[in-house]
Order: sequence, then C-alpha cells, then structure tokens
Amino acid sequence: MKRLNELYDVKLHDPYMDRSIYKDPTVCPSCKLIYHNKRWFWDEKFYNELMENKDKVNFKECPACRKIRDHYPLGIVYIVKEGVKPHELEDMKRMIKNEAEAEMRRNPLARIIENKDEGDTIVIQTTTETLAKKIAKAVQRTFHGDLTFSFSDGQKLLRIEWKRKS
Ligand SMILES: [Zn+2]
Repeated sequence: MKRLNELYDVKLHDPYMDRSIYKDPTVCPSCKLIYHNKRWFWDEKFYNELMENKDKVNFKECPACRKIRDHYPLGIVYIVKEGVKPHELEDMKRMIKNEAEAEMRRNPLARIIENKDEGDTIVIQTTTETLAKKIAKAVQRTFHGDLTFSFSDGQKLLRIEWKRKS
C-alpha cells in the first residue's frame, strides 16, 4: 500500500465505463438514466418518448447501477469518529448527502454505493473516485482534521481517511 497524499489527482481505470457495450440509445431499467450521443443523462421527456418506441431502445443497467449491484467502489471514505461530537456527526452526514447530490447533478454516474456506520468509523463507498474526494474535501473544509489518501494497485480504488487532529 502506497501513501499518496501527494497523489490527489490519481485517475483510476474504470472497467465499467466501456462504451462499446452500450448501444445508442440505451436506458437503464434501474434508474432510467439514458445513454445517447456518448453521454449519460436523465431526461424525463426524452425517456417518455423512448418508451413509446421501446423496440428501438436497448435496456441495460448503467455503469453506476452495475457498480452498486456488484459492490464495486472506486472510492472509499473513512470518517473516524474519535473526537467528533454527536451534533457534528449529524452535520457531517448532512454534508455528505448534499455533496453526493451536487456531484450527481454534475455526473449522474457518481453515486454512493453504501454509507455505513461501523461503530468507530463511518464508511462511505462511492462509484467514482471524484465523489470520494469531494466528500472528503468537504468534511475537511468544515471540520479541518487530516486526510490520508491511499491507493492500492491490486484493488484499483482510492481510500481516503478523515481523522480529527489529536
Ligand atoms: Zn442506472
């Protein structure tokens, strides 16, 4: 395991982003995301139009829904609860949710796979490493503390730990 505080800009290979497996147009049956002109987006009006000609539409789960189903995170944020007051924790949880919603508007394939309270740590798994970075940075911006980035070649994912300075 390498310590990569300096490698904030690490860009991971995303095996789920292979465009060749998606025909145009494709609709994700799980989240209704549309693939068209090499982009993924939500568009309710366009979705309804597509549904009127279902035989011309391909149905296949989008990369985000496949990662959620396969439990394949590209980023994991660990929030160490030591030294964090309960009301701060509530603020943090709200902040994480807001950050995830904002990033999803920017990139609809950025989702939280799982957000789990494991006693002394909150573990947030994300479908993109960018979302993990944004969550970690937002927590640090408000609550300060230290971020530690680590990246293992074998696992192909970015781990970020936030810890209050002791
Ligand atoms: Zn989907």
